[in-house]
Amino acid sequence: MKETSIFGAKNYSNSVKRMKPLFILALSITLCACQSTSNTPQTSTDQPIKNVIFLIGDGMGLSQLYAAMMASEQPMAISRAPYVGLQVTRSATSDVTDSAAAGTALATGTKTRNGSIGVDSLGHPLRSILQRAETAGLSTGLIATHSVTDATPAAFVAHNPDRAQEEAIAEDFLTSDVDLFIGGGRQRFEHRTDGRNLSNELRNKGYHIFYTLDSLPSFEQGPIGVLLADDKLPSMQQGRGDLLPRATQEAVRLLSKNTEHGFFLMIEGSQIDVAAHHNDADAMIQEILDFDHAVRIAMDFADTHPGTLVLVTADHETGGVTLPSDSNIIKFGKAQPTEGNRAQTRFSTKGHTASMVPIYAYGAGAEQFTGLLDNTDLPHRIAHLLQLPQ
Ligand code: MG
Ligand code: ZN
Repeated sequence: MKETSIFGAKNYSNSVKRMKPLFILALSITLCACQSTSNTPQTSTDQPIKNVIFLIGDGMGLSQLYAAMMASEQPMAISRAPYVGLQVTRSATSDVTDSAAAGTALATGTKTRNGSIGVDSLGHPLRSILQRAETAGLSTGLIATHSVTDATPAAFVAHNPDRAQEEAIAEDFLTSDVDLFIGGGRQRFEHRTDGRNLSNELRNKGYHIFYTLDSLPSFEQGPIGVLLADDKLPSMQQGRGDLLPRATQEAVRLLSKNTEHGFFLMIEGSQIDVAAHHNDADAMIQEILDFDHAVRIAMDFADTHPGTLVLVTADHETGGVTLPSDSNIIKFGKAQPTEGNRAQTRFSTKGHTASMVPIYAYGAGAEQFTGLLDNTDLPHRIAHLLQLPQ
């Protein structure tokens, strides 16, 4: 089913295969012009979608990405995506969302208050797309470079009106049935104020709990949790190395063993946001390029596993990044341009902004993610494509 689209990238859509390139172009323009924030996909895909790899760059806006593209010595994997959309990130209570409300919108399709995890504005629990996938028999996984109890991954498995309650959020992993989680946050499982050891409780439920990735390549089956740090993982500048790409590689290998029902995997580039909060352009670019390695692995997997959708987006923009021209201020590191009137990475805030963020879609069903979308549209469309019951 592989083919080369008019954009030069591969996709597997039968419906697109039958279209003439000019018609695809016309359709894309029509979708961009007319589509607003409804929950109903505009076209149907006649090939079933089996696997979804949902990659979230926390705080990764368009300017952040282009700063990384300018710095990258090779084309970024993300540029292989033939379908691109825009996402409105606002929460139920603010134009400027936090990662808890944004994660909840991306995980459940419902807007909530800033600070809330997996609950609506009244505090009622919401089922996430990961939980629905789990119930439908898919294998499920979460990877983060921050604590797995931090807002973004938490929104896929936990329910708490207060994102700061990370020990309570860790308890929700016991009832989540998630098949694989890899990230930081060990202290919320093992060094808790209530004295419980959730890692041992997870082991009693059949989980294998590890503290490095070393035993993963020989691991074959069973639910697994890997807690790589007490809190967040080291940053790229602190020497995280290839932990995120390795975790991604092992996760797709393990989850894709479920050939009958497929899998749902969320991967977060958590520390793009951390670097942007610090207004540190070099650190931010390194985190994005590392995240792009995970994108590359996901896209390569989709190339060899028809029926796989790869979605890459952000939960919000952090730092109010602009790329003005200023030859007098050179803030880039070694990999950056050092002469001439080149673009510079500038920040306008230490916080989040209301800017829309990009969506990149690749593989089966990718054409469903163009145009102007609301953050809540994404899980609705994923659930529709995976044909998940409520
Ligand atoms: Mg996050
Ligand atoms: Zn943030």
